[in-house]
Amino acid sequence: MSSPSVLVVGGGPAGSAAAYWLARDGHDVTLVEKREYPRDKTCGDGLTPRAILQLGDMGFNFDVPEFHRITGLRSYAGDDLVIEMPWPDHSRFPNWGGVIRRRDLDMQVARLAEAEGVTIREKTTATPVVEDGVLTSAVLSNGTTSEIVAPEVTIIADGSMNRFGRDLGSERRRDYPMGMAARGYWRSPRSTDPFLESQLDMRDSSGATMPGYGWVFPLGDGTVNVGVGLLSTFKRWKQVNTSVMLDDYVARTPEYWELDGPLGKPMGGKLTMSFSKSPLVGPNWMTIGDAAGAINPWNGEGISYAYETGRIAAEYVGEAIGAGDLEELGGYTRRLERDYGLYYKMARIFVKLIGNPTVMRTLAHTGLRNRPLMEWTLKVMANLLDDDEKEMGERVYDSLAAVVSRIPTA
Ligand SMILES: Cc1cc2nc3c(=O)[nH]c(=O)nc-3n(C[C@H](O)[C@H](O)[C@H](O)COP(=O)(O)OP(=O)(O)OC[C@H]3O[C@@H](n4cnc5c(N)ncnc54)[C@H](O)[C@@H]3O)c2cc1C
Repeated sequence: MSSPSVLVVGGGPAGSAAAYWLARDGHDVTLVEKREYPRDKTCGDGLTPRAILQLGDMGFNFDVPEFHRITGLRSYAGDDLVIEMPWPDHSRFPNWGGVIRRRDLDMQVARLAEAEGVTIREKTTATPVVEDGVLTSAVLSNGTTSEIVAPEVTIIADGSMNRFGRDLGSERRRDYPMGMAARGYWRSPRSTDPFLESQLDMRDSSGATMPGYGWVFPLGDGTVNVGVGLLSTFKRWKQVNTSVMLDDYVARTPEYWELDGPLGKPMGGKLTMSFSKSPLVGPNWMTIGDAAGAINPWNGEGISYAYETGRIAAEYVGEAIGAGDLEELGGYTRRLERDYGLYYKMARIFVKLIGNPTVMRTLAHTGLRNRPLMEWTLKVMANLLDDDEKEMGERVYDSLAAVVSRIPTA
């Protein structure tokens, strides 16, 4: 194989989006994915309007039977306090979301990239060749044969473990939050429910308050994705066993789900957030999606940010190759800072505050009694504020902070 102009390492949402946008602009792109599609990925499978916008821009077919349309969010604080909120209207984003298994979603998006001209090599692992700290080439290996390629630019989209990037010096900032989550699939007669459901006041089997949150995301095919998550800002987080937490949550989900399962063994994974990986750009490479730590700390959403960072990276790589000047790759870091910097900074402060389960519980119970506040909170957490609403969003944040400041343990 001759060396492509751009090598993309990893065929999840980030890698496929970057490859798609580069190929659409006429670039010669090879994407390597170490597994074979359809491949599973531990995830809640939930898509917000931000992800829907990106998928629509890539020509995704939402009429496939695997896709279940979602009209809003239902949040619980305890067993009785509940609120249902539709996705907000927005000048850019649609007012609907979706749930689709990652094995289906990621294969279909990879096929969209392929249709634009991307060469996709499945069951192929890329390993960097680094000389004097510089990425000179990559070894592509399918287990029986291997070859060396020397692309002009390598886009690293290898997920939260980021092995390829680590060899190039990409490291996670320990002072930034990180998430842990586990999920499984259950049968449910309510699988066509049009809401994503979350529980904000978690309890263990004895009824004691637990840090974290739980979700039930309906897939529309007779099954639901049930999961739990927690953040490294929560006290005792390392002592929490997410499998036990998931069992406790399943036992407490509202009866109407009539959960039957699990179907297969529930699986867990890490969520790298708030652009905790650094550096994001090297002389001839850049990281995107989870490899860049792009997950939104406000809500643990990573698929849309994987698509968005892939698309932004494609822009800068295209410009740098066009100009024959790889220094232009550096603009990617500045663009991320401009687009997400302040929002993620506010998120880091927020997740530190809710690290105390009492604060989280108080906020959830206060918020769920106040619909306008909760609707604004949904907009802030899902990053769906319109430009003319940003100031209002900051006021919501201030009111949340005011509630927190009245709690003696905060
Ligand atoms: C339990 C859990 C629940 C979640 N729920 C949600 C949710 O409901 N909604 C949401 O938006 N986000 C959710 N997330 C986050 C979301 O899963 C990630 O943000 C998203 O998958 C990031 O996409 P990515 O392309 O960066 O990485 P990945 O999806 O991890 O893709 C990386 C790909 O790279 C491949 N790869 C790795 N190394 C190599 C190599 N050396 N060579 C070739 N290929 C390689 C891997 O096989 C993989 O296919 C959840 C995460 C977890 C752990």
